[in-house]
Amino acid sequence: MSISIIVPCFNEESSLPYFYQEFQKLTESMCQESFELICVNDGSSDGTLSYLKELAAADSRVKYLSFSRNFGKEAAIYAGLQYSQGDYVAIMDADLQDPPSLLPEMYHAVTVEGYDSAATRRVSRKGEPKIRSWFARKFYRLMNRISKTDLVDGARDYRLMNRKFVSALLEMGEYNRFSKGLFGWVGFKTKWIEFENVERVAGETKWSFWSLLLYAIDGIVAFSTAPLVISTLSGVLFGFSSLIFMAVIIFRRIVFGDPVAGWASTVSITLLLGGIQLFCIGILGQYLAKTYLEAKRRPLYILDETNCEKEP
Ligand code: UDP
Ligand code: MG
Repeated sequence: MSISIIVPCFNEESSLPYFYQEFQKLTESMCQESFELICVNDGSSDGTLSYLKELAAADSRVKYLSFSRNFGKEAAIYAGLQYSQGDYVAIMDADLQDPPSLLPEMYHAVTVEGYDSAATRRVSRKGEPKIRSWFARKFYRLMNRISKTDLVDGARDYRLMNRKFVSALLEMGEYNRFSKGLFGWVGFKTKWIEFENVERVAGETKWSFWSLLLYAIDGIVAFSTAPLVISTLSGVLFGFSSLIFMAVIIFRRIVFGDPVAGWASTVSITLLLGGIQLFCIGILGQYLAKTYLEAKRRPLYILDETNCEKEP
């Protein structure tokens, strides 16, 4: 059986040597299987590409795909899946935060235990900023509430899949990719394997708090329409309460004859409603923007160079 390992690399010059070392150890421990390492250079500005070329020259199992600029990890994963040839395909980070030592167990799950994919989740988030972990946990809670797609807290993109699973993923050529949701959306039988968080071997994380927040919004917009329902409901609620409010004022005017006083309350209510309206238009805009990007049907990535023979 052959296994393809896809590694998205964005400025990973410092961690790739460690990664390759681990890859070699892994392949030695699973010597009955043949391996293919597909490294996707996602527009790195450091020496990542030249290092990959060196590796490819020395080791025929190493393939590289190099993008014309940074297209993001999701695009890199998609490209890797398209070019992969193995019977089984794994996605792994270059920074060794996805322990290669778990792969034999994952392989056992898909080959012997009858699962279609083996996925990993980290059960701790040690070494991560507290506030980031807190938001992440809240995000998963919220997503599971508002979306039918199953999202597992702490799930990594690190997983091993069979061909059936990969083909299903490739069929979804959408532009706004949120892999964690797509993995759940395609269904099939998945085994979850847990591990303790591991810190990066070298280099720095590419995710700032803001980029994670935007990614979370992407995820919500891609997998749930609940925000639209919420904005509609809030419109109904406010419209209805304004009717009651009007009736109360008219009643007071007729029965007690007291004139309506107070500009302060009027201004604050106007501001509140204005704010809610803008918020709801913003939600609408998010969906519209995604539809707009989707409608352009732009390619997910542009390939600059590669040593892969197989066309996707
Ligand atoms: N990555 C990528 N393109 C990007 C950002 C990240 O290919 O635009 C890769 C990166 O090289 C690494 C993986 O995605 O192999 C995970 O990135 P990182 O370790 O920065 O994320 P974290 O583990 O902190 O979530
Ligand atoms: Mg990482």
